[in-house]
Amino acid sequence: MARYTDAVCKKCRREGSKLFLKGERCNSTKCAIDRRSYAPGQHGKNRVKLSEYGLQLRAKQKAKTYYRVSESQFRKYYEEAFRRDAVTSDALFEQLELRLDNIAYRMGVGTSRAEARQLVGYEMLEVNGKKVNIPSYIVKVGDVIKVRDSKKDNKAVVTSLETNKLKAVPSWLEISKDRMEAKVLRKPVREDVDLDVQENLIVELYSKN
Ligand code: SF4
Repeated sequence: MARYTDAVCKKCRREGSKLFLKGERCNSTKCAIDRRSYAPGQHGKNRVKLSEYGLQLRAKQKAKTYYRVSESQFRKYYEEAFRRDAVTSDALFEQLELRLDNIAYRMGVGTSRAEARQLVGYEMLEVNGKKVNIPSYIVKVGDVIKVRDSKKDNKAVVTSLETNKLKAVPSWLEISKDRMEAKVLRKPVREDVDLDVQENLIVELYSKN
């Protein structure tokens, strides 16, 4: 049996909330944060009052870990959001949600964002009829994202769609699990994102640096 390490779950415990990084396990009784809802490490059970900077840093880390993007990618999204004529935090989450790997995850292609990213890299999807294997590809309103016909029997795709059958569908996407496709109905807004984070702290952090 494969050895299970708690390393990924520690990220959830560090941030104090479920970030859904382990697929099916996250919705089971094996979820580490349900069993140990304190931070990892020797002093994890001690409450530590964070400084203003500490709170900002944790908020950024939480969002970055949730979407599984690197520091440089996350900062790039922030800078792009800052340039836009919009509320910066809204524009930040809009870009993160419109990434192709996130759409795949929302469709149920991949039980976690990490798996969804892998499946995009393995050329499982097409956008408007064209094969796209770039996880960071940003989709647009009206785009149709589909599992490619030649990949519809792929075991990983079929298993993850079956596992995610009852997953909630965000209202900005129209998803047909039978046809293995999704259509972007509108741009996602912050309220559509099921992540408990104070986005103003992220903006405050980056605006200082
Ligand atoms: Fe681990 Fe998933 Fe639970 Fe997070 S939500 S602690 S990744 S099982």
